[in-house]
Amino acid sequence: TYIIGQPCVDIKDRACVDECPVDCIYEGKRMLYIHPDECVDCGACEPVCPVEAIYYEDDVPEEQAEYYDYNVKFFDDL
Ligand code: SF4
Repeated sequence: TYIIGQPCVDIKDRACVDECPVDCIYEGKRMLYIHPDECVDCGACEPVCPVEAIYYEDDVPEEQAEYYDYNVKFFDDL
């Protein structure tokens, strides 16, 4: 899955939402989240993010590692 990280917080540009072919990017209070089971790893969202907040799961920067859990937890809590 792809993961949305810290740069999205309080930005929520939503360019990625329009790009996602399976509509698996959801809006939370302060950021957007990618549904880990619905994402098909197409990568289309990553280059359109104006703040470069989207990473493939293996490429999430070390200092943002907790955002992997935030993305998963957002959907657990729904
Ligand atoms: Fe959607 Fe593709 Fe981005 Fe996954 S990688 S969130 S399927 S646009």
